[in-house]
Amino acid sequence: MLRFACPGTPKSTPGSGGTLKGLKHAKSLGIDAMEIEWVQSVPKNAEHVADVGKAAKELGIALTVHAPYFINLNSEEKEKIVASEGRIIAALSMAQVCGAVSVCVHAAFNGKGDSKTVTESVRRSTERIMKQKTTLFPDVNLAYETMGKHSQWGTLDEALEIAKEFGIYPCIDTAHMHARTNGGMNTEKEWEELFDRYAKVLGKKSLKKMHLHYSGIAYGEKGEKHHLAFEESDADWKGFLRVLKRREIGGILVCESPAMEDDTLLLRKTYDRL
Ligand SMILES: [Zn+2]
Repeated sequence: MLRFACPGTPKSTPGSGGTLKGLKHAKSLGIDAMEIEWVQSVPKNAEHVADVGKAAKELGIALTVHAPYFINLNSEEKEKIVASEGRIIAALSMAQVCGAVSVCVHAAFNGKGDSKTVTESVRRSTERIMKQKTTLFPDVNLAYETMGKHSQWGTLDEALEIAKEFGIYPCIDTAHMHARTNGGMNTEKEWEELFDRYAKVLGKKSLKKMHLHYSGIAYGEKGEKHHLAFEESDADWKGFLRVLKRREIGGILVCESPAMEDDTLLLRKTYDRL
């Protein structure tokens, strides 16, 4: 089963917004998943986070979380690595409190490092983070995201390598992969190969429980510029939906379009008609 998530509280939510109202409104629109955007900071009020989880459960809405942007596991300053690990652990712990299944993380900037050394930095931090798993986030997946800029760690192979080693699964952002390759990853053949590669590393069953991101995207030589609504982009989103359906991909696909719930529903309805 594949669910299509809106990126945070729908923009058409009446009143002052907030996650609780957003969940109810998402449900009324026919949306059955949401990625909670803790991109500035992780909330500290566990009681409120538990209420969000309870409401989501009652409404039948599955949750994922986006961890804060202020993370760099490859920083030259040790205290910044420690703070980054702390933010990741906080996001994972609060995700556990609200019953979110997976937390996506922008792991690192490459800086002067090559792929091998930066992957090593991510590996060392992941080892420390995963030591907390059984006590703080036993049911939550740590999903390193495939990233859109050349300056960022997170190619498919890098994310898969760490995922396999620690028994976790990455957040596959196919828009980022499209941007990073300056226009690649936009055909059914390429998406088929992507899922083949993913299944080869993480096992065939892993395709039934994925954390995916998708949107239109603007890009150039250095990769990602910014996200776009599908209508304004060159994304062959219908082709992508055909591959998702054909491969019976399961899990949660977060639609990260600036058109928010409009594009989430566009994907959902088109997918259902296929
Ligand atoms: Zn992201």
